[in-house]
Amino acid sequence: MARYVFITGGVVSSLGKGLASAALGALLQARGYTVRLRKLDPYLNVDPGTMSPFEHGEVFVTDDGAETDLDLGHYERFTGVSARNTDSVSSGRIYSTVLEKERRGDYLGKTIQVIPHVTNEIKDFLATGDDEVDFMLCEIGGTVGDIEGLPFFEAIRQFSQDKPRGQCIFMHLTLLPYLGASGELKTKPTQHSVKELRSIGIAPDVLVCRSDKEIPAKERAKIALFCNVRQDAVIAAPDLKSIYEAPLAYHREGLDKAVLDAFQINHSPKPVLDRWEDVADRVFNPEGEVRVGIIGKYTQLEDAYKSIVEALTHGGMANRAKVKVEWVDAELFDNEDAEPYLKGLHAILVPGGFGERGTEGKIKAAQFARENKIPYLGICLGMQMAVIEAARNVANLSDAGSEEFDHEAGEKRFTPVVYHLKEWVQGNHKVERKVEDNKGGTMRLGAYTAKLAADSKVAGIYGSTTIEERHRHRYEVDVRYRDQLENCGLTFSGMSPDGSLPEIVEWKDHPWFIGVQFHPELKSKPFDPHPLFADFVRAAIETSRLV
Ligand code: GLN
Repeated sequence: MARYVFITGGVVSSLGKGLASAALGALLQARGYTVRLRKLDPYLNVDPGTMSPFEHGEVFVTDDGAETDLDLGHYERFTGVSARNTDSVSSGRIYSTVLEKERRGDYLGKTIQVIPHVTNEIKDFLATGDDEVDFMLCEIGGTVGDIEGLPFFEAIRQFSQDKPRGQCIFMHLTLLPYLGASGELKTKPTQHSVKELRSIGIAPDVLVCRSDKEIPAKERAKIALFCNVRQDAVIAAPDLKSIYEAPLAYHREGLDKAVLDAFQINHSPKPVLDRWEDVADRVFNPEGEVRVGIIGKYTQLEDAYKSIVEALTHGGMANRAKVKVEWVDAELFDNEDAEPYLKGLHAILVPGGFGERGTEGKIKAAQFARENKIPYLGICLGMQMAVIEAARNVANLSDAGSEEFDHEAGEKRFTPVVYHLKEWVQGNHKVERKVEDNKGGTMRLGAYTAKLAADSKVAGIYGSTTIEERHRHRYEVDVRYRDQLENCGLTFSGMSPDGSLPEIVEWKDHPWFIGVQFHPELKSKPFDPHPLFADFVRAAIETSRLV
């Protein structure tokens, strides 16, 4: 039976709860334990799949096809444990399950209430797979006191009571603001936050205090006294230069020790931290810098491309180089020459996206990269745009486009070299969807296998001809144009096992031009950079040497 650590936050949001949880997971692993991380989000959306990336950042996709919160990406990057559908839940999903059960008559006509029906549903979610790991780390989104979060707090309180004593602990993150006028770190907001937590029946065992100053012993003692925690369970969370420093920094501050102490587990064997020492060394001691342009649509909110930025960082670490990301809004040159926006970049990445806005700019970026022999990585929509560019400018299909844009505009304007897929095979069953199924839950989602041509560049990069990568899209490159495009030099070097769905394209006579229908960024780790990103950055370094 797993031990549970519940991670909550107080005072303000964005304190880095996800990072603290992920770092704790990494530290427990470094001590030889197995872990799984979970996220409970109080918002009422049923899943993050239909939430705007502008507001909520990227949608992280799991192997088993769940569209989840981006925190699951952090968890995977720090622990290497593949997240699952059962690792993320929102209030919306809990309520909709409860209401479905009520409609079905499962509750036999009883009055349905937050306690016990909603809380029981949350507890069932928490208990799933509790026999598989040593520690289950469950992060509650939002801050204590939020109205929508209450059922979650009540559920974790009950859950800890249902379990044997010592099976669950509570870790609470707060902020210690610094008041310049008095030259002090103020502990009162933390005291209030803990009071709020205690008023709903939860007493924290470990307090993680975010502050941009050292916490003096006097303040630490005061927090321990007023919040009823042990002094060595008051952990400082200083600002970090890189998130990848977090496991080492939290270890220095004693987080893993405090957590094990709270469970009364012997903490004296030292954790093995070589992996994180190597990661930190690569982050802090790069030997050069390359400029990689991300030609996107959601460029104001970097979280919208979180995993891509991290995967580029990992690619840099593999080459001991720093990757400087240049954000370029594709819409700016929809109707203009792209060169002024793109010249000087050592590599160009066109990420995934939805809708027509900015796509003409992305097509121009693909053309610029092809013609100027700049390394190009097209991800999902970025591959589709590279194919449209090839069709229009090389294969004489001047009206080539994607059915996605015609659907959006409600009129037919393009020859659809990218079309709306209506049925496909997943594992050993057929998936079907109707044209009207346009929003939420109707995409080709999760891990699919691709077969790579043995003599292709990608097979060399992966060191394999069979790969498995995660997908999230409705549209596909139409295999009917394969011969026409291959005759022009655009090789279809990766295909679905039945040969019907193009998974990868690459230009033969180009130093590095690869488009992939999937999202390789989701599987990259700092200690195990994704081969495509590692090689893309290597190619960017080569380009930087030429200019
Ligand atoms: N909008 C495209 C599709 O649905 C690409 C999606 C993506 O880039 N993730 O196929």
